[in-house]
Amino acid sequence: MLGHRPVPCSAMVPNDETLFEKVVNLSKRRGFVFQSADIYGGFRSTYDYGPIGVLLLRNVKEQWWRTMVQLRHDVVGLDASILTPPAVWEASGHLANFTDPLVDCRECGARHRQDKLDEPDTCPACGKTGSFTEARHFNLMFKTHAGPMADSAAEVYLRPETAQGMFINFANVLNTSRKKPPFGIAQIGKSFRNEITPGNFVFRTREFEQMEMEFFVPPAEADEWYRYWCDARRSWYLDLGMPQDRLRLRDHDSDELSHYSTATADVEFLFPWGWDELEGIANRTDFDLMRHAESSGARLEYHDPGSGDRYVPHVIEPAAGATRTAMAFLMAAYDEEEVRDDTRTVLRLDHRLAPYKVAVLPLSKKAELIDPSNEVLGLLQPHWMCDYDQTQAIGRRYRRQDEIGTPFCVTIDFDTLDDRAVTVRERDSMEQERVPIEGLVGYLTGRLTS
Ligand code: ATP
Repeated sequence: MLGHRPVPCSAMVPNDETLFEKVVNLSKRRGFVFQSADIYGGFRSTYDYGPIGVLLLRNVKEQWWRTMVQLRHDVVGLDASILTPPAVWEASGHLANFTDPLVDCRECGARHRQDKLDEPDTCPACGKTGSFTEARHFNLMFKTHAGPMADSAAEVYLRPETAQGMFINFANVLNTSRKKPPFGIAQIGKSFRNEITPGNFVFRTREFEQMEMEFFVPPAEADEWYRYWCDARRSWYLDLGMPQDRLRLRDHDSDELSHYSTATADVEFLFPWGWDELEGIANRTDFDLMRHAESSGARLEYHDPGSGDRYVPHVIEPAAGATRTAMAFLMAAYDEEEVRDDTRTVLRLDHRLAPYKVAVLPLSKKAELIDPSNEVLGLLQPHWMCDYDQTQAIGRRYRRQDEIGTPFCVTIDFDTLDDRAVTVRERDSMEQERVPIEGLVGYLTGRLTS
């Protein structure tokens, strides 16, 4: 379905320990990600996406939507509410089962998720063995109250996944969209989990964004569609420039499977701390529709008017994290290379993910260059997200754009006043070319991956 377009390979990938620090530092320094409530001392494990980060995150979500919805005839979108009544989570099993096992170290007081410990009996904080309390099961859902009365009748939950919004709207979508199985419902949005051990920057946070799709299929086709979605989702990351050797699809062992799933595979990225999950693809069978049908009394099935058959579709779910994936793309794109005794930091992001596609840079702040620079900016802005920067030496401005992954810089100089041409510099090769202003949009359209 997707052609793999390789991005230039890293000339010098920093060793793993420094890569994490470098990407976190770059994120803060250049306005990708800020600590939330920074001026109040910071709110632990929550983050705000700054002017550059919000563009990267939007591009990740846009590429997902494009592949999963826009380019298909069999998937439609949805934007369901975040606040959800307890009945939904009762039926889905989240009230009973959406728990993590929590252990405390009696020696140092550190709190851990038991299932994520490298050595089950040793505290990673103080090294003591045999010091853990019995595991307690801790529900990850955030509970709040709707309306002025904080009593149990007013309890609602912030959704911990977007998926249930798709299941409870199955009949609404079926009746209004003229789709029939196999078809999917896709959604991008915030989810909330009261994680015991948030960390690794934006990898695991309590508030995050997901990109999920529920694909409803005739039961007999479930295995085939499961394999199809595993391949398609892996290809999506590769097509957007993830290096093959840092991406893998890992099948879950049978003891790892969720109670509702007959098969699950994770798309994993090689983070500096090792392989970790970006996305899970699961065969959820008819579990969710059956549970919601039983609990609500609604008929959640497909009636084929041709054959007269009635059945409850099975569901294949590719569930990805937008914020986590944006971080993985940053890590994969980060590169440093030696250029004339200097270290150049460059984000070799796929053009489609790059926050800005073009930066417009007048060579100097002199008044006569500002008018043509504004003219060029005005020509480009309807087509692409553009940055504009007129301070500092041009070399330093190029480096600033390299650091945030801008594929092309367009420089307006004093010759522009005579020849109505500009210098276009490409991020990866640093090669420069003179291009007439009149042909600039066509030139960049030809060179930018879209
Ligand atoms: P984990 O095992 O890492 O807790 P999970 O298997 O519970 O994750 P899913 O329920 O399958 O995760 O959620 C789908 C995707 O949502 C994950 O692959 C991940 O990309 C993202 N995600 C889940 N929890 C978080 C979180 N706390 N912070 C950021 N992204 C998350």
